[in-house]
Amino acid sequence: MSDKIQLLPDHVANQIAAGEVIQRPASVVKELMENAIDAQATHIQLLLKEAGKTLVQVIDNGEGMSATDLRMAFERHATSKITKAEDLFALTTKGFRGEALASIAAIAHVETHTRRSEDEMASQIIIEGSEVVQQDLVVAPQGTSFAVKNLFFNIPARRNFLKSNTVELRHVIDEFHRIAIAYPQLHFTMLHNGAELFDLPPENLRRRIAGIFGAKTAEKLVPVEEQTSVTAINGFIVKPEFAKKTRGHQYFFVNNRFIKSPFLHHAVLAAFEGLLQQGYHPGYFLFLQLDPKTLDINIHPTKTEIKFEDEQSIYAILKAAIKHALGMFQVTPVLDFDRDPNMDVSYSQQQTPAKIPAIEVDASFNPFRAPGVKPKTIQWESLYTQTETTQIESETPGDDLGLETIAQPKVFQLLNKYVVSSTHAALLVIHQQRAHERILYERFLKNLSLDQHPSQQLLFPVKMKLNPSEKAVYENYETSLTSMGFELEFDFESDTLEIKGIPVLCQQKEVTPLLEAVLTIDTFEAVAESFSASDRLAKVLAQTTSIKTGKVLSMLEQQALVDDLFACKEPLKSPFNRQIFITLTKEEFDQKFN
Ligand code: ADP
Ligand code: MG
Repeated sequence: MSDKIQLLPDHVANQIAAGEVIQRPASVVKELMENAIDAQATHIQLLLKEAGKTLVQVIDNGEGMSATDLRMAFERHATSKITKAEDLFALTTKGFRGEALASIAAIAHVETHTRRSEDEMASQIIIEGSEVVQQDLVVAPQGTSFAVKNLFFNIPARRNFLKSNTVELRHVIDEFHRIAIAYPQLHFTMLHNGAELFDLPPENLRRRIAGIFGAKTAEKLVPVEEQTSVTAINGFIVKPEFAKKTRGHQYFFVNNRFIKSPFLHHAVLAAFEGLLQQGYHPGYFLFLQLDPKTLDINIHPTKTEIKFEDEQSIYAILKAAIKHALGMFQVTPVLDFDRDPNMDVSYSQQQTPAKIPAIEVDASFNPFRAPGVKPKTIQWESLYTQTETTQIESETPGDDLGLETIAQPKVFQLLNKYVVSSTHAALLVIHQQRAHERILYERFLKNLSLDQHPSQQLLFPVKMKLNPSEKAVYENYETSLTSMGFELEFDFESDTLEIKGIPVLCQQKEVTPLLEAVLTIDTFEAVAESFSASDRLAKVLAQTTSIKTGKVLSMLEQQALVDDLFACKEPLKSPFNRQIFITLTKEEFDQKFN
């Protein structure tokens, strides 16, 4: 038998490569737009017909190509971006595989013209299914135009595999967004069947996001900023109260490249823990800058997946940065200093004289209550605040924190476990232990973030001998413990910890159980979560010092518990994500008495 192995002809190899790189019109959009960015363009126009099935055209004002380079650009493994394997770990460009144009030309009709600033004439090339049909000199502005027509014209199976225009256009728009968000300093326009869908002038990131998703979005964003030796992180997260039921705006960019990373996503979820209702998804636009040496981008042909050398650190840093941005759960309105005030008022309104606004007082407004996550069935806030606990702002500052309680709801304790409170519209049954955990947890965190550490001296300092694992935990948490109000002294000779003071939130008789709880925090977990040591600590402290199930509460204590709970940022869930209270509405009662 004769030898059987032969090399595949180029156009076949290119078609095979195209199978990986080009799945749909959106893939063409991505490759062409990335090439325009690599060519230093400042204005990139995307034109589509029939969701890109009949035409995807990208016009840029970048550096262009010579006639020879234009011909070369369509060869497989032809690239100007890397010359040797090591370059893969010092990438500054989007492209590097040199296969996009070859792949596209193998499965479509391509018409390109390009001109460098130093050339008088532009070069044009027409290729159909890898075959050069025409090559010319033409008159054209500086930059490059790629028109990709009749995608998959020679592979009917793949053309039939394409979805409806609506679906394909959605994919294209997603791709367009990813690039437009990554490069807010560039001008992007997008037209579909002649109609302009986007015109995004150069902007800062916040306004670019607003330009794409609507002006209202800008107010929902909280900036994230973190600088460490491993990575620099910046961008925005969407405030938890605007989280969506659908996985909406979730964007990670590593060195300005959009990537998909379940791993990083998990870090974000962990940072949002306790802030989102079940079934809601966080929104984020996060940029990570990393040394290219510590990344591998070349693990997937579309380059949307990435391998990090130091995954664990990045995870911890990201999580900590987001927690920090959430202000340890004290998400406050953000002032946008670079916002153009003219954008807020429509032109017609700018002409008319300003009206003096009528003063409206919202008697139920509680400045200590952030707009929370919406509960599934009813709005507890309106339920609870409208009539019974009407609170008004006090004139004199410092007077009872500016709050005055006018009337109190009725409360009683049930089974030494629940506190029942009635409002005008419903009955609230509150789990006393979980409610108190939530209250203490937020107080501990608040002390930490305000860097206040009210401490009380112990009359009789307590000494504890630590075993090696307790010692490790102690060393890990020492700073956080101090900033929470503990006064501690460790004697390395005898491995003895002396407790001289404790946070005012704790009771003296709790010292030993408190320290024992802290020192038995799982060391392994402690190491993995070292970046949120304080959060972990606040949880443990809240759990240990909270009112427990079974404790009989006085009327006053019950009332305080209810008040304090609803002054919390997140009164719905305990720090361990358990339901704190249930409501029974009039309708629910009526149904039962039916
Ligand atoms: P890669 O981007 O991986 O290098 P491509 O097949 O996408 O491979 O492009 C091949 C080469 O063609 C690029 O390396 C670049 O030199 C050139 N090129 C492609 N698009 C443009 C453009 N819009 N402007 C200037 N040069 C371009
Ligand atoms: Mg490319």
